[in-house]
Parts: sequence; structure tokens; C-alpha cells
Amino acid sequence: MLKIDNLHAETGGKAILKGLTLEVAAGEIHAIMGPNGAGKSTLANVLGGKPGYDVTQGSVTFRGQDLFALDPHERAAEGLYLGFQYPVEIPGVSNVQFLREAANAQRAYRGEEPLSGGDFLKLAREKAGLLKMDMDMLKRQVNVGFSGGEKKRAEMVQMGILDPAFAVLDETDSGLDIDALRVVGDGINAIMRSPDKGVLLITHYQRLLEVVKPDKVSVLADGRIVQTGGPELAHRLENEGYDAVMADA
Ligand code: ADP
Ligand code: MG
Ligand code: MG
Repeated sequence: MLKIDNLHAETGGKAILKGLTLEVAAGEIHAIMGPNGAGKSTLANVLGGKPGYDVTQGSVTFRGQDLFALDPHERAAEGLYLGFQYPVEIPGVSNVQFLREAANAQRAYRGEEPLSGGDFLKLAREKAGLLKMDMDMLKRQVNVGFSGGEKKRAEMVQMGILDPAFAVLDETDSGLDIDALRVVGDGINAIMRSPDKGVLLITHYQRLLEVVKPDKVSVLADGRIVQTGGPELAHRLENEGYDAVMADA
């Protein structure tokens, strides 16, 4: 589904990704762990097409297409979803408006009819239920005054509505308490655990991986994947620290 080959990228004139190679097959949840500053968010931003990041070498193939030939909105419409460490607030726009626009923009791209108001609300209610989010929250402005946990749940409702083929989730667990972590993790499982979907789950800590059980775990350090293993690798990192595990690699 996603094939990253020898990816080099820079931002602010500084090389951050330095030959990153990684593949995620359909049906896989692949966790990326790594120390602060390793380039995890840079990888997410490059995949999403955020301005200010220059790819200097390498390639990314997404569902058989050259990812970099697609604009960010085309990547989204082709089924790529990006979840952010710090979801943005959009004053003056309600979640309902925002989500319906997003869903219908995606449908238009695919040549499908827009959802009626009733059909959209039914879908929104179903996905909000998965994330234990009250519909009243969805009537409020996007993320304005939301707690960290509410922002992450709202983002997962958005993911549920867009129903992407592939999600890149950057530190979705940051700022979540134990209960919210469980709700968000269960939501990721419900929405993305499927033989025809894939997830790149970027996290600094092992605790989200107790809920969203990864098929593979890779360590990203200094812009490269330095080790790949199964879920036991996440336990080792948690217990022994990045330096010790990487010294063995
Ligand atoms: P991680 O998400 O793994 O903590 P990041 O991808 O956010 O790491 O950052 C990787 C490195 O890139 C860090 O050293 C960071 O300071 C640097 N970096 C990120 N953005 C910029 C920028 N705009 N200009 C210069 N350096 C940057
Ligand atoms: Mg960081
Ligand atoms: Mg980061």
C-alpha cells in the first residue's frame, strides 16, 4: 500500500530524513517509534504534502501511484489520511459543517453524489458513537475550546467519516489520559483494522500499542529506519530505552 524508498527530505535548509525505507502492506498496522527529533513528524508532513518540506531524493508509492505527483488534496481523495499531533482550531466553522464539506469534497473527487443532510448526520452520529463523542460537541466550532482528548476524538470522528484506505497518525496518543487513550485506540481499531487498509502509527510511547496492537514496529532515528521487529520491539524500547536498543541494532 505504501512503499517508501530511500527518502531524503529537508526543511528549513536542514536535512532531516536521510534515506528512509519502509513498506506497509494492506492489512498492516506499522508502528514507528523513535526519540524526539528523529524525524517522525517530518515523515508525516512529507507524506501529507505540507509546504516547506523538500524531498531531495527517493520515492514514495501509494497504492501504485507516485505520491509526490499528487497534490495534498488529491492524496486525501485517493485515501490518505493524516492525523496531527496538534489538531488546529477553526473558529467560525462547526465540526458538522467542516466534516460534511470534507466528506462531500472527497465524494465529488470520486464522481459520487454529495451526501444529503440526513445521510450525513446518520454517518456522523455513527462515527461519533464509536468515539463516545456527544453530537452536541460536533455542533461546536472545530477544536475551539476542546481539551486535548476531545481534539483527538474529534479527529478520529473525522477519520471515521472519511473512511481512508491509509492513515498516518502522528502521536495521536499525546496528551491523552488513560480513558481517552482507550477510546481513541478502540476507535482506530474499529475504523482502520481491516484487510484492505493500512496504518502508519507514529508514537513515542508504548502505551497506545497496548490498545492498537501493531503488526510491525520500526525504530526511526536520525532520519532513517534503524530497526524493524514485532510488537516485542516496542516493549524492549519502553523497558531499555532507545539508546540501548539501538546500540544492539
Ligand atoms: P520528531 O517528530 O521525531 O520529534 P521532527 O520531525 O519534528 O522530529 O523534527 C526532526 C528534526 O527536524 C528536529 O531536529 C527539528 O528541530 C528539525 N526541524 C523540524 N522543523 C524544522 C524547521 N522548520 N527548520 C529547521 N529544523 C526543523
Ligand atoms: Mg517530537
Ligand atoms: Mg513529532
